[in-house]
Amino acid sequence: MDIIHLLPDSVANQIAAGEVIQRPASCLKELVENSLDAGAKRIQVIVRDAGRTLLQVIDDGSGMSEMDARLAFERHATSKIREAQDLFSLRTMGFRGEALASICAVAQVEMTTRRAEDETGTLLEIHGSDVVRQEPCSCPVGTNIKVKNLFFNVPVRRKFLKTDQTELRNLLTEFYHIVLVYPKVNFTFVHNDEIVLELPAGTEKQRIEAVFGNPKKNVYTSAFVDVHTETDVVSIHGFVVKPESATRKAEQYFFVNGRYMRHPYFLKAVQTAYSGMLVNDYQPSFFIYFDIQPESIDVNIHPTKTEIKFADEQMIFQILLASVREALGKFTLSPQIDFDTTGSIDIPLPQTHSVSRPQVTVDPSYNPFHTRGTIYPDRPQVVKGWESLYDGLHNTVLPDNTIPSESPVETELLRREDVEFCPMWQYRGKYIMFPTANGLVMVNQHRAHAAILYAQFIDQLTHMQGAKQQLLFPEVLSLPQDEMVLIAHLLPDLQAIGFDMDQLSPDSFSIQAIPAQLANQSALPVLQQILLNVRERGADTQQEWREQIALSLAQSAAIPYGETLTESGMRDMIMRLTQLPSYIRTADGKTIVSLMTDDEINKRF
Ligand code: ADP
Ligand code: MG
Repeated sequence: MDIIHLLPDSVANQIAAGEVIQRPASCLKELVENSLDAGAKRIQVIVRDAGRTLLQVIDDGSGMSEMDARLAFERHATSKIREAQDLFSLRTMGFRGEALASICAVAQVEMTTRRAEDETGTLLEIHGSDVVRQEPCSCPVGTNIKVKNLFFNVPVRRKFLKTDQTELRNLLTEFYHIVLVYPKVNFTFVHNDEIVLELPAGTEKQRIEAVFGNPKKNVYTSAFVDVHTETDVVSIHGFVVKPESATRKAEQYFFVNGRYMRHPYFLKAVQTAYSGMLVNDYQPSFFIYFDIQPESIDVNIHPTKTEIKFADEQMIFQILLASVREALGKFTLSPQIDFDTTGSIDIPLPQTHSVSRPQVTVDPSYNPFHTRGTIYPDRPQVVKGWESLYDGLHNTVLPDNTIPSESPVETELLRREDVEFCPMWQYRGKYIMFPTANGLVMVNQHRAHAAILYAQFIDQLTHMQGAKQQLLFPEVLSLPQDEMVLIAHLLPDLQAIGFDMDQLSPDSFSIQAIPAQLANQSALPVLQQILLNVRERGADTQQEWREQIALSLAQSAAIPYGETLTESGMRDMIMRLTQLPSYIRTADGKTIVSLMTDDEINKRF
């Protein structure tokens, strides 16, 4: 008997929908991008219950004909590409033709749409891929689409949604990514009948101010310096904040050809440009827009992923680093000194996008800050770090795609020779304190230990060689159905790191051993914490699961606050901390090390 059969479309669509539409925010992104592709100048987003019950997008774009309105919901139906090679010259946001098909597979969709040349519009209602209504209607030009009861027919997905507060934050994050690249389009965002954002058309700067220039976000355009570089390979423009306007929680955005992207490697370039200019763990906010030939980036990636691959990342790294440095240099020196005539930062570039890298020439003995004396009388560290403006610019070419070493501030903060012999003491069972060449260093003992353990766990997960400790009495972990699904994904990694666990029944596991570092802790709370973190932080890839597993384990195993430490115990911990590639913050972004400079101390007296 033949056993293979084709899945009905509705089932295939539901499976594929999981790929594209994971949460209300991904649905919103697809709808708004469609409106932009349709040339809309005004887009209204109306949301109820963080998108659980309603996500509505109203645009004044091209609208659709009756036939197209129906076709739009078919898989691989798109008006945006015709041939595979069109993929390489993409300028529209969508192209796969799968968003609407996916959305209507997992929600109740109602749409009205009309083109300018048509007298009547079309109304279409689709529930879980079934068309329940299609008729002519009267409506304005453009498209009005309501997505109701998302995941009404996929209970597991629904369970994976987070609190309304978190989902609303996700919606807004997605919304920011889009509105920041379309300043000429007017947007409104309404949640539960309240206007959350009203963004009139304007310039990029005005848009940034409208979104972030409030006491909550605290990013004001008056603190911006312009970045502007044109080369044959890439054009870069945008804004970075002056060093003294860096904040603990910064807004950092890269865009390429009108899309938001995450790019940890380029982020490193911006951070390097600021090295020596920031206090403690402050971060600069920036909004940087790249324009590049579509051929030299790979956009045919997973639709929900925001990483983008560039053909020549090292060259762009250097160009970005040089242009942010130049912008920051210009601002600290202006208007007397011009980099074009004095300390030249020239970037002669190859004519083609070939492999040759930019040569950057500088005069490293030139100290721009002498010319005007002290720039920030009350911030000597800024002037002190001027040499670092030239770091990496000595005709250098990065060897390969490795992340460059930490900024000088960071490596100087804890130097081996500083911490080997200095006195150390413990403060309130929480902090380790000691003097260094730079001032008084304070280290959070629990986080420091957690960071050391985190690195260990990541290493063990990568090499699949955790050390385990047998439990005297096996523990039983019982879980609801949706968590069983989740833990099934994590099982190989959990076993690799030292959890010996066997499935007992459809909803439980027995646990015989735990990672050795957990000492005598109970396995259950730790596993619960891992599941919670994976869910709450939206980890979707194996790499991200491993990070969450390592993080949860490290937090559980690290010495708690209140634990008394001996001086040799403290020194041992600090020495191990200095060996980590990065020790200023934990993997989840919390501060580990803080410096009170001699200046800050002296100023108190
Ligand atoms: P894609 O955007 O990848 O082409 P979608 O499933 O998102 O695929 O949309 C399918 C098609 O429906 C689009 O190519 C477009 O022709 C049409 N469409 C979708 N939304 C709108 C809209 N708001 N205005 C006009 N046309 C739209
Ligand atoms: Mg689309």
